[in-house]
Amino acid sequence: MTEVVVVGAGPVGLRVAKNTAKAGYNTVVLEKNSVIGKPVQCAGLVSPRVVELTDTESVIEKPKKAVINSPSGKSLTIEAKKKKAVVIDRAKFDREMAMKASKSGADIRLKSVVKNTTCDGRREVEYIREGRKETLKADVVIGADGPTSIVRRTAGLPSPEEVLPAVQAVVVSDDNPVQIHLGSKTAPGFFLYEVPFSTGKLIGLASDDGATYKHLIEFLKSKGLDNKVITLLSGTIPLGNLEKTVDERLCLVGDSACHVKPLSGGGIYLGLKAADICSDVVINALEEGDLSERRLSEYHERCQQDIGKQISRGMKIRKIIQSMSDDEINELISTLKKDKVKRVIEEKGDIDYHSKIFKPLLKTAPELLKFTGPVLKSLF
Ligand SMILES: Cc1cc2nc3c(=O)[nH]c(=O)nc-3n(C[C@H](O)[C@H](O)[C@H](O)COP(=O)(O)OP(=O)(O)OC[C@H]3O[C@@H](n4cnc5c(N)ncnc54)[C@H](O)[C@@H]3O)c2cc1C
Repeated sequence: MTEVVVVGAGPVGLRVAKNTAKAGYNTVVLEKNSVIGKPVQCAGLVSPRVVELTDTESVIEKPKKAVINSPSGKSLTIEAKKKKAVVIDRAKFDREMAMKASKSGADIRLKSVVKNTTCDGRREVEYIREGRKETLKADVVIGADGPTSIVRRTAGLPSPEEVLPAVQAVVVSDDNPVQIHLGSKTAPGFFLYEVPFSTGKLIGLASDDGATYKHLIEFLKSKGLDNKVITLLSGTIPLGNLEKTVDERLCLVGDSACHVKPLSGGGIYLGLKAADICSDVVINALEEGDLSERRLSEYHERCQQDIGKQISRGMKIRKIIQSMSDDEINELISTLKKDKVKRVIEEKGDIDYHSKIFKPLLKTAPELLKFTGPVLKSLF
């Protein structure tokens, strides 16, 4: 008898599966792809918290600095004393997570494409495995099936406020600091990144103008890298704070629940955090024999207090940045380059909790209010 069905063998679903299987609940993971961790749709830039949380051995780079480039080419170099970010090999990371889930007893079924979930007493999941239609009945279903989640759609749960298309290239290169590029010509509405990876680097971007791929190619050409591309991939980044992530015998987690930082698009840390909250609530609910929406809403509420607040603040700040002209971004970078302001970023900057820096930044450089207006102040 299946107690927990997790849809999606990304890091977040696998984390939930590891936890519920370890607690002794019969857990099945359904994954549409034939290989765990591929295709990679991620730059793998995460905070050291992710390493602590997962004990991963997939760290491949420990960048010492990050360079933020303004539209006019001004650059701000951040060199923090404390390590703020590492790069993981995302495919290896996912395989490690799968190994842990398997070792705890989860049954991972590849090539299993979920088509529908319904609830009539228990939850039923319909999926296609190697051309055959199959169904599984479960006490509870966890939708960890990424940004375009079929579980979210079939359960009638809310859609993300924004979904940004993203592209990424693996490029051969030996000049590889972490770099961020801002501006309406490079990546309107978001940013372009360069992240060291193995023998080269990952160059990727998201934008809100529907021309993401074109921007990537233009950037690669401008750097003479268009003939150095090894692979190209695309993905999506879901943004916004979902007002509902649970239903009768069902929870959404990770990208399917929009557990993504609106200012960076990073979702691994928030997703893993949500996965632990989700499994904690689900395990208790299974013990009590109460998988009602009311019981599971504890998971949603607990996420809202931390992750949801971060996402809502991030969205407000995102809107401010989105509305800024290139000239304003140039001016903003000039202000952030001032020694005292840069020091605050280096000391207090946190890639998981972006909004934490705004209060100390405003204290050091009240002139920043010029860019943000009263919205930023109202967030604290
Ligand atoms: C270009 C790009 C770069 C990124 N860079 C970073 C970064 O540097 N750092 C960071 O923290 N985050 C980054 N992210 C975000 C990060 O990749 C996600 O937040 C993270 O993968 C979320 O994990 P997840 O397990 O929730 O979902 P996913 O990793 O998307 O896993 C979902 C799984 O569900 C499976 N699935 C989907 N539909 C079905 C179905 N119908 N049936 C069965 N299985 C299904 C998928 O195949 C997939 O394996 C990036 C995203 C993109 C697009």
